[in-house]
Amino acid sequence: MNINEAPFLKELVQTCSNMYRLGWNERNGGNISMRLTVSEVEPYVDVTKTLRRIVLNFDASPLANSLFLVTGTGKYFKNVERNPVHNLGLIRVAEDGASIGILWGFSDGDGPTSELSAHFRSHIVRLSRDKEHRVVMHCHATNLLAMTYVHPLDDRAFTRSLWRASTECIVVFPEGVGVLPWILCGTDEIGRATARKMEDYRLCIWAQHGIFGAGNSLDEAFGLIETAEKAAEVCMKTLNVACLNTISDEQLRLLAESFKADYRKDFLSDAL
Ligand SMILES: [Zn+2]
Repeated sequence: MNINEAPFLKELVQTCSNMYRLGWNERNGGNISMRLTVSEVEPYVDVTKTLRRIVLNFDASPLANSLFLVTGTGKYFKNVERNPVHNLGLIRVAEDGASIGILWGFSDGDGPTSELSAHFRSHIVRLSRDKEHRVVMHCHATNLLAMTYVHPLDDRAFTRSLWRASTECIVVFPEGVGVLPWILCGTDEIGRATARKMEDYRLCIWAQHGIFGAGNSLDEAFGLIETAEKAAEVCMKTLNVACLNTISDEQLRLLAESFKADYRKDFLSDAL
């Protein structure tokens, strides 16, 4: 069967286009990795046939033999829809976790995103929390990025600002958001730091750069970023105007409890 007809490929391609059109993935910005099962992939690709192998600079052994559909290094989200085999790749982590095999894609000889450490390390952490975890995505969502220039880079303070900016936030990301200071991207250092935040959160903001989101599906990871980005837009629009109203901690608590959200209670003040 033609892999271009595979539901997982079609959905990832569509997600890249949506993110591009939202202005979150200019030029070669952003990357996505999605874990797939052998039974999903087998009808389209021979999972025993490796086209090439790429050595990793970190240990991916907890993901041994796992399959991922990943965006390529230097590739533009704008172009994924037009030419998936050039811009995407299907990879399998080697048994020893020291390399990956390319099974399909990256047809120009390139490899996966330069942020593979942040992706794989985040997958390892999120899978330890939830066996259904599948997707990690990174983009340069404009308002979240802008907010990191004007807001303290503190998990609790940042989360509270987002929660108060839109009623849905505490229900959609009740655990809050993690915020990292500026760290050189494309390194294992930022990969490790991102994964440490992923122990507590599914959203991790990279100051002056962008955001990482994790979820059990493309919809979930995308929806998390979309919701946080909308709240960040409200924060930025109300930054220099006199606000007459807000959502109080008491109202946030009421919301979280009504929707049975497992929220970070220490992110709200004790005073009722
Ligand atoms: Zn980036």
